[in-house]
Amino acid sequence: MDLATSGSDIEKVIATHEEILARLQELARKVEADYKDRDLLLIGVLKGAVMTMADFSRALQRHVEMDWMAVSSYGSGTKSSGVVRILKDLDRDITGREVLIIEDIVDTGLTLSWLKSNLESRGAKSVEILTMLRKPEAAKVEVEVKYVGFDIPIEFVVGYGLDFNEKYRNLDFIGVLAKHMYA
Ligand code: IMP
Repeated sequence: MDLATSGSDIEKVIATHEEILARLQELARKVEADYKDRDLLLIGVLKGAVMTMADFSRALQRHVEMDWMAVSSYGSGTKSSGVVRILKDLDRDITGREVLIIEDIVDTGLTLSWLKSNLESRGAKSVEILTMLRKPEAAKVEVEVKYVGFDIPIEFVVGYGLDFNEKYRNLDFIGVLAKHMYA
């Protein structure tokens, strides 16, 4: 769905579809260079990272493997709880693999710092992170994110995989959800 159709639910556009795709191309070139002659396993975090995984993986001019995990840290609100549960685990063993986690957004960093150590503890050779969005001012824990699409202020955003109560994931852009939708 595009901006014109989504109406007054969206207060402000953070990144258009074109801007997202252009940024993912830039990140793909960096990842290709960094992982030259190396194995690469992309691990997408469901459900938010579905769009980023789809477009980023297609921007990559090299072979990769993909796996998926689903974790829950939020419930249905707009605040991070810090409690992470695995809802769906990986299909394959990652011992010795070079893992790049594909995320939609780093907010407090609690989910990713937990996920990174979880994957490291399974014997991955390396674990790095690519995220479409990051809210640097919201960080509660330090987590090193190697590839960032866009840094954004502390605002609740939706679209391009990101939801509010499961809605708005299919917007083709990223926007700030109007306060009247959840306040
Ligand atoms: P963190 O643990 O606080 O970094 O939160 C990470 C997860 O919270 C993300 O994977 C999203 O599912 C969700 N999240 C954080 N901020 C937003 C937002 O602005 N919009 C939608 N979901 C968000």
